[in-house]
Amino acid sequence: MEVPFIDLLRFEPDFLSRWREKVEQMSVTASFIGGDEVSTLEGRLESYVQVKHAVTCANGTDAIQLALRALGVGHGDLVVIPDLTFWATFEAVVNVSAKPITIDSDSKDGGVDFELFMLAIKEHNPKAAIIAHLYGWASQQLAEIRKYCRDHGILLVEDGAQSFGVNFRGTSIYKDALISTTSFYPAKVLGAAGDGGAVFTNDAELAAKVKQLSNHGRSTHYGYADVGWNSRLDSLQAAFLNIVLDYLPQRIASRRDAVAYYRAKLPALGVTQINAPSEYLENGYLNVCLIEDPDLKLKLESLLKDRKIGFGNVYPGSMSSQTGVLNYLHAHVGNRSTNRLCESVLNLPLFPYMTEEELSFVVESLGLIFNKR
Ligand SMILES: *Cc1c(COP(=O)(O)O)cnc(C)c1O
Repeated sequence: MEVPFIDLLRFEPDFLSRWREKVEQMSVTASFIGGDEVSTLEGRLESYVQVKHAVTCANGTDAIQLALRALGVGHGDLVVIPDLTFWATFEAVVNVSAKPITIDSDSKDGGVDFELFMLAIKEHNPKAAIIAHLYGWASQQLAEIRKYCRDHGILLVEDGAQSFGVNFRGTSIYKDALISTTSFYPAKVLGAAGDGGAVFTNDAELAAKVKQLSNHGRSTHYGYADVGWNSRLDSLQAAFLNIVLDYLPQRIASRRDAVAYYRAKLPALGVTQINAPSEYLENGYLNVCLIEDPDLKLKLESLLKDRKIGFGNVYPGSMSSQTGVLNYLHAHVGNRSTNRLCESVLNLPLFPYMTEEELSFVVESLGLIFNKR
């Protein structure tokens, strides 16, 4: 049996026929930019994530840049970011001409270390901060981080590329953010047929600024109130996402079932996983095992390869350890504990409509190594 790390081809029975029909209909009417599909999607996103304004854009990296620009973060401004995140979080800061300060993450939940977060703010007095909600949940101290930023005048951007469908204290994780972003990269929980992203906020002015920046800073068709860029979401991507949204509750339910299976079976084998803090209902984006013994990790990886079981390492290295930071990293706060965390992470297969047979094959395979110890 082969179990891929992720399988994007498990469409619902009527999914592809609906998509083909939509492509045909939009092609014969040349409905390619803007229009009903985009505005319908934005409306549906607003109700799904319980925010007043959802503005779609070209990808999740642009979404972070748009959020920073809309907040007025720019030349020379300091921005605190997690050392454990996708490179886009780092890039977005640099691309708006601001300076990133990395801080270590907390291995309990993969979010920022709150003590270091406060220390970095005291030491550096940044204009803004970004936190990234990784794996399908977020920091145990999310409410405290938000409050700390509000009280200290720090503009907080929440990179929610991995957290679509996550609930925090019973409501959407995006609901109480000042401004948050997501990505519709195909492998994300709400994935498009290509690239896409969105910015969420309850602030009408911020939303209007994001919308303007994402469309060349336009005020009228040939009038420009600011310098933005072209970061519009294609209408075809919006149409695809509108179809996916019809099935998203069942896709997320299926992901959560797989998570529940791992959570029920792995502890008995002695496999450590990062669990979502209790205030979260996770979206089932990733499984995160922590294998701290490097020899054991190598053995496990080679067994998984032999058995044709896919696995991931999200992420293999911290931001501050990348060669690309050389000319950009302003400072790092912490003792670089993120590197150890990165070395230990091993992600098992997790995607919608995984079968019980696949899940039990994965767990049974881990048992071949863990039961022997
Ligand atoms: C995927 C991802 C992004 C970037 O999204 P793109 O749509 O690929 O640009 C940013 N941050 C995090 C944490 C991500 O996982």
